[in-house]
Amino acid sequence: MKPPESFGTPDHPFRIAIVGSGPSGFYAAMALLKENDLHLRVDIFDRLPTPFGLVRGGVAPDHQKIKSVAKIFEKTAGDSRLRFFGNVALGRDVQVADLESCYHQIIYAIGNESDRPLGIPGEHLEGCLPAGRFVGWYNAHPDFSDLEVDLGCDRAVVVGNGNVAVDVARILAKSADEVRDSDIADYALDALAASKIREIVVLGRRGPVQAAFSPGEIRELLDLPGGRLTIAPEELALDPESLADLEKAPKKSSARSNFELLEIASKNTCSEDRRRILLRFLTSPVEVIGNAEGRMTAVRIEKNRLHRGEDGVLRPRGTGETEIIEAGLLLSSVGYRGTRTPGVPFDEKRGVIPNIDGRVVSEKDGTVLTGHYVVGWAMSGPRGLIGIHRGLSAGVVDLALEDLRAGRHCRPGLTACDISGLLEQRGVKVVSFEAWKKIDAAEIERGERRGAPRVKFSKIEDMLEVI
Ligand code: NAP
Repeated sequence: MKPPESFGTPDHPFRIAIVGSGPSGFYAAMALLKENDLHLRVDIFDRLPTPFGLVRGGVAPDHQKIKSVAKIFEKTAGDSRLRFFGNVALGRDVQVADLESCYHQIIYAIGNESDRPLGIPGEHLEGCLPAGRFVGWYNAHPDFSDLEVDLGCDRAVVVGNGNVAVDVARILAKSADEVRDSDIADYALDALAASKIREIVVLGRRGPVQAAFSPGEIRELLDLPGGRLTIAPEELALDPESLADLEKAPKKSSARSNFELLEIASKNTCSEDRRRILLRFLTSPVEVIGNAEGRMTAVRIEKNRLHRGEDGVLRPRGTGETEIIEAGLLLSSVGYRGTRTPGVPFDEKRGVIPNIDGRVVSEKDGTVLTGHYVVGWAMSGPRGLIGIHRGLSAGVVDLALEDLRAGRHCRPGLTACDISGLLEQRGVKVVSFEAWKKIDAAEIERGERRGAPRVKFSKIEDMLEVI
């Protein structure tokens, strides 16, 4: 079926803006460029000069295999119908109204750029960090490269039982030599080399059966050369409700695999020369305790018991029994959340862009905003491994294409502006994909000296200097 206007033709292709060049943004671009019927042009914007979002700034440096997905995105970026506009921030360099006047549709792929707070006293003390900031720090993300991270204490506490908690615990447990051949930031490598941490205590507010981490991640902790995963056997003694859930779980479920792996860990002992990762369950931090200088010295935790809610979910409830764990570093890894971008609707409660199946809706009355879409974590919250978002982004693109065919779009005229002119007028230093490739080549060259895939630039000025 032909679109109702003369767009979608070789002379007048539909123009789509994707804001955010992380996995979901690139997956959306891939799905759009597969469209054979309509002619399209896709522009991807990123506030950083570098593309690939979470793949570069979130995935752990010792997980290079996961990062190899960037190769697929590079291929997409090589399509002549796609342009990359790096170093262009929505709300700073361009506004939503600018995009509406240049593009038929806008797809927000802006991810989740902040951490959920713990909401306990003392969380602001020095030494207490949201895990997302720590992850950004060791990944050389320009937002976090100046973060003060002190690994000069004996013990660190990680709060949360998801894969991010496992990532940060694993990085803390590794020696500098174990990550030298990764793309970890050079300053983080130095900090690991000087690290005094001997024990990393990981706190789960529920039990081992409810843990959110994946078996693959736990298996990796069991295989650390310089670290040892341990768990007190009594921590695996399940309450009757958890036991019933475990017995009902399918044979190959994460819950069963996790439990089997944790049973192995419960038989582990830790020698002096290794860093110990100690898993604790049914415990919640209730207060971070600090000294007169405002530095954390300990965390007070409370023992929990599980109660089944009317929805069938087992939730933690404090028992009043508390304990103090001395520690100089606390990483709270209790989930990410989105942040508000000027001009884009935002659901403060859920931390996402409000939407119906990816079609953005008004914050005020919930009506669909024609031509505006959202993909990835900005749509759903921080859920799902990277690969899952390929299908999810494609699903939203299907709806967007359906809307284009039906004439539902932002309606820029046939002579609508090209965003390049506007950015030039405003003096924005746009980084094209070709320019990024220069940064890429310089980073790879720096990496050769360290035997690493790359050594990243962590300052935007240094990246722009290369170009
Ligand atoms: P997550 O999987 O949602 O885990 C969050 C954890 O925080 C849960 O254990 C949760 O416990 C706990 N939590 C929440 N509020 C808490 C509180 N107030 N006190 C104590 N604990 C609290 O989130 P994530 O670890 O940030 O990961 C985000 C997504 O990225 C996930 O889909 C994850 O699989 C993915 N990821 C994957 C990899 C990988 O594949 N290697 C690496 C990193 C991240 P409850 O279950 O009790 O709520």
